[in-house]
Amino acid sequence: MGAMSASDTKNQIRRVLFIWGVLTLLYFFITWVLMQFATHTTQERIFAALSTTVTYSIIAVSLGQNVMRQIDATNRALQASIARQRETEAKLRQELAERQRTEETLRRINAELDALNVTTLGLINRLNPEELLKEIVGKAAALMNTPHGFLYVVEPEQQELVLRVGIGRYAQHIGHRLQRGQGMPGTVWKTGEPMVLDDYSQWSKRQPGFEWARAQVCLPLRSDLEIVGVIGLVYLEPERRFGKEEVELLGRLGQLASLARENARLYDETRTELKERQRAEQRLKETLKEIERAQTKAHAILDAATDSMMLLAPDQTILSVNRSFCEHFFGNDPREVVGHQLADYQAELQRVFDQPRAFQDLIDHTIADPAQSLVQIIVQRAPSHRELQLFSTPVRTRSDEHLGRLYVFHDVTKEREVDRMKSEIVSMVSHELRTPLTSIKGYVDLLQAGEVGDLAEEQRKFLDIVKTSTDRLVELINELLDLSRIEAGRVELKCKALDLAPVIHQVANTMHPQIRAKQQQLTLDLPPDLPPVWGDPDRVIQILTNFVSNAHKYTPAGGSITLTARGAGDQVRVDVTDTGIGLSKEDQAQLFSKFFRAENRATQGVMGTGLGLAITRSLIEMHGGAVWVESEPDKGSTFSFSLPLAPGAIEQETPIP
Ligand code: ADP
Repeated sequence: MGAMSASDTKNQIRRVLFIWGVLTLLYFFITWVLMQFATHTTQERIFAALSTTVTYSIIAVSLGQNVMRQIDATNRALQASIARQRETEAKLRQELAERQRTEETLRRINAELDALNVTTLGLINRLNPEELLKEIVGKAAALMNTPHGFLYVVEPEQQELVLRVGIGRYAQHIGHRLQRGQGMPGTVWKTGEPMVLDDYSQWSKRQPGFEWARAQVCLPLRSDLEIVGVIGLVYLEPERRFGKEEVELLGRLGQLASLARENARLYDETRTELKERQRAEQRLKETLKEIERAQTKAHAILDAATDSMMLLAPDQTILSVNRSFCEHFFGNDPREVVGHQLADYQAELQRVFDQPRAFQDLIDHTIADPAQSLVQIIVQRAPSHRELQLFSTPVRTRSDEHLGRLYVFHDVTKEREVDRMKSEIVSMVSHELRTPLTSIKGYVDLLQAGEVGDLAEEQRKFLDIVKTSTDRLVELINELLDLSRIEAGRVELKCKALDLAPVIHQVANTMHPQIRAKQQQLTLDLPPDLPPVWGDPDRVIQILTNFVSNAHKYTPAGGSITLTARGAGDQVRVDVTDTGIGLSKEDQAQLFSKFFRAENRATQGVMGTGLGLAITRSLIEMHGGAVWVESEPDKGSTFSFSLPLAPGAIEQETPIP
């Protein structure tokens, strides 16, 4: 507009100057015509007027030119100003567009943040995970301006994808299933990579029933490294596309969806665990009540018993004692004793038992043994003299866990007194029987030797029977005498430092013919550095012979017997193991008592008195050792005994010839 008016002004000025020029020329012409007819004075005046006019004309022209120049300058300035203005205007327009773009981005970021925020809050507040997944898909769809979206989750058992959340056109397909590699979600599950299609309806692997979909984006949902689902959005309008930004945004929301699924899984797991724990707690409470009831009952029964009882843990912690135990041994309340170590009552044990060391040894030997039962006589000296039959057996829980050992102290003072009296009588009668038996045996020998004439075949047969029976009677009487002498305390040991290896070899040699006759195998396992024991050689031979003879008798033909000796602390332990008929638990509990013979078919055919083990045990105990057995019917037995080491570095005696 400004430029237009400037050129107009210039044109007008030009027009004025032109008219001015024409008028001046006309004026000059009129003046020239007048000059022809005018007087000199008039001419002079005309001339003066003319010169004035010329002067004015020149002034007017120069003024006009000046004005024109000024107008040009103004015009140029004006144009420059317009150009600047245009530039500013363009800049402003650019800034405006940029601001609009920024505003749009901000609006979008805001919506995105809002979606992330809502989802995160949902996660924190443990919104129903299914609802949260639905919310995530809804938000993602809203951000991308589409109403159609879905979320498939992996079902590990079936190895399938199942449509768990569907909005828009996908709502009607909830529950739809896809195999690995099938359709777009199945492909994403297989490859683990995001996937974008500009037109799903043209895709070769499109799924029937979903051909209405155009642009589609799918992303894997991961938990740790594993794919747990696939999230996707869809446009139905052919012209719309998913760009890089959309994929990134969906990726962010997808991460939240993964978290939501992971949360849901952890939540379910924790809930199941909690329920399981509550159930276990309840069960525990019930069990505890049951235990309490059982304990009360057990205590009542135990306290009513006259025998003294003690239950010891393998580390010798006292687990339980009854009233009788405390009354007879410690003189205090059972509740004070429980939980203490047996060693805490050393002073009491020293005071109460006749041989406290042997008692402690017996406990030390047996406590960790989860199998063997044991019966042994111990003597109490205070507060009154009593002879006690100590029965010990391992105790197991219902779940077969080794709890410890029960020690039962049964007062056998009176029985033992009667026994001793019986022994005296037996000893006397045996002694009286032995003299006539010896003469019968002598005469039978004479008859068999043919000293009084030849014998008929039948006579010889009868004499053989008389001899066998007499031998059995002599053996029985000898054993009876032996036992009664031991029980009456009339046997004295002649102990010395004794090297066991030669003694064992001697016993093995003596037994060898019988063992070979039964096709049995005898193996000796003796270390070269076996320390000497403190023992009576004759009695140690008797002990070993009894064990090896029993192993031979109660092991079928072709079986094997192993004799092992080892140093164990301040003792030497000897094991006689056989592969024989074995013994039941009940029989084991009665072993070592007089005249006991196990009632099985295998024993019935074997000659025996049932006195051997009773004598053997007494002899071992007299040495300060212990004896025990481990056995299983039809598998075999191990009879073990221990003897104390010879004190100090005693010169080894030459073994008995
Ligand atoms: P005897 O052998 O004279 O019968 P013992 O006192 O030596 O008497 O043994 C008592 C019982 O113990 C035997 O009758 C037998 O039933 C059982 N017994 C002893 N040793 C064994 C063994 N090694 N294997 C199986 N049972 C045995």
